[in-house]
Amino acid sequence: MASQHRSTTTREATAASAASETALETARRQLDRVAAQLDIDDAVIERLSHPRAVHEVTVPLERDDGSVEVFTGYRAQHDSVRGPYKGGLRYHPDVTRDECVGLSMWMTWKCAVMDLPFGGAKGGIVVDPKSLSDGETERLTRRFAQEIRDVIGPNTDIPAPDMGTDPQAMAWLMDAYSMQEGETIPGVVTGKPPVIGGSYGREEAPGRSVAIVTRESCDYYDYPLAETTVAVQGFGSVGANAARLLEEWGATIVAVSDVNGGVYDPDGIDVSAIPSHDEEPEAVTRFATDLDEGDDVSRISNSDLLELDVDVLVPAAVGNVITADNADAIAADIVVEGANGPTTFAADTILEERGVHVIPDILANAGGVTVSYFEWLQDINRRQWSLERVNEELDAEMKTAWNALKNHVERRDVTWRDAAYAVALDRIGDSHEMRGLWP
Ligand code: GLU
Repeated sequence: MASQHRSTTTREATAASAASETALETARRQLDRVAAQLDIDDAVIERLSHPRAVHEVTVPLERDDGSVEVFTGYRAQHDSVRGPYKGGLRYHPDVTRDECVGLSMWMTWKCAVMDLPFGGAKGGIVVDPKSLSDGETERLTRRFAQEIRDVIGPNTDIPAPDMGTDPQAMAWLMDAYSMQEGETIPGVVTGKPPVIGGSYGREEAPGRSVAIVTRESCDYYDYPLAETTVAVQGFGSVGANAARLLEEWGATIVAVSDVNGGVYDPDGIDVSAIPSHDEEPEAVTRFATDLDEGDDVSRISNSDLLELDVDVLVPAAVGNVITADNADAIAADIVVEGANGPTTFAADTILEERGVHVIPDILANAGGVTVSYFEWLQDINRRQWSLERVNEELDAEMKTAWNALKNHVERRDVTWRDAAYAVALDRIGDSHEMRGLWP
């Protein structure tokens, strides 16, 4: 089954320290594992182990003080057999070529799990967005748009927000692209503000899908939401929206955190009272700092939050937080992955052995790209949908995807991640086999 390339990759990854597993290593190991369970042509699996292209560009920026600094940007395009490449742009100091490739592979599977007519891409700039003024962010984004202009487009590759980027950055990207093309092309990017062709509900969509999938999994495993405790790591758009919706639907959110640490109350935290990171950066930190001695709420570190004895754990911050080092200490019964790649391959195996149900990122946070698809349709038709319609259709799409995975889990007795990969790879594999390899 395994080609020379893939078995070498797997060996290298096995030798690497589990905790330092990169997104690309995790993605390739997951693909190898599922390929062994499925009846898919080896040649297709071999093609899917590699990105179609990785574009690396330099992005010069004039800083506010007049000096010029040069940053590195990437756009990894993994597979487009089912439609245009699709995926976010990340501004973060740890962005690497390999990370973009690994994340672009996950986008291919995510779009296929949701049965969207898109392939997978991911990109970004190696930069700490906190070190940039608004003007610098705008100039950097516009120049990046120019550098990748030839490889993106509404029918070829459609970027979106990811870590460190927001609707404003998407607006600048869309404007820069449109100015060069000489016409307004809203469909070149999704996650824009609604006033310029963005979709209502897009910003909260990844958190909403995490909440929907948590609701479905609690129902499946017999945890009535009113009696379910949830800990959420990360209070950005994914974590905050998921926590707020789950609280609204009756669950008890016992802990939330941001990059500096979190707060914990076994009786539940009023999460609607804490601004999300987008509304006020690091508001959880301020909430924790303002606590008094006698308060029921206590401070908790990010690593202790992951090990809380809760029904559901939602890692919704960064990747690689559940590793071989702490997988044995995870006390939750269900893990719903809000972030992309929060669980390493090694940790996944440990959680499976321990009977912890992991609902994978490529389903759980897929609300983002699903509403991106709705946005793209609205852009093509130049007609905006109401928020009610977006949320209703998202709920329906999530339930359809959930049911497809559930059938597979029940029929084959596999993990939820294996089921998601199987559903995705069946669709992608069939498309590749039908189209064939040309020339
Ligand atoms: N960055 C988001 C993700 O990881 C959304 C991508 C998109 O909407 O294209 O799913």
